[in-house]
Amino acid sequence: MKFEDLRNANIKRQREWPGDDKADVAFRAIEVAGEFGEVAEAIKKYLRAERGISGSTATLEDIADEMADSIIALDLLANQLGLDLGTAVARIFNMTSAKYGLKTRIEDPH
Ligand SMILES: [Mg+2]
Repeated sequence: MKFEDLRNANIKRQREWPGDDKADVAFRAIEVAGEFGEVAEAIKKYLRAERGISGSTATLEDIADEMADSIIALDLLANQLGLDLGTAVARIFNMTSAKYGLKTRIEDPH
């Protein structure tokens, strides 16, 4: 799957989503923070299971689900700001490679 596929699907689905017109940039930013917090929570529960600590637990699949929610939410926020995640990721990845003298680069998708 490409970032472009996610963007197109997000735009299409949000047209169906009741109340989406009331989800502004602030709402989307809170949503992103919440979803990334859920990743951390799932990892905590995964470590709890690994270490035999009492309480609710999570699997790697649970962590993957929360990571996916996070990316979906991040794309919704980027869309509202008119940003292209694929371009941004390629640019920053390449800047970091250049900074540390590494050869690996990502082609800008556009
Ligand atoms: Mg979630």
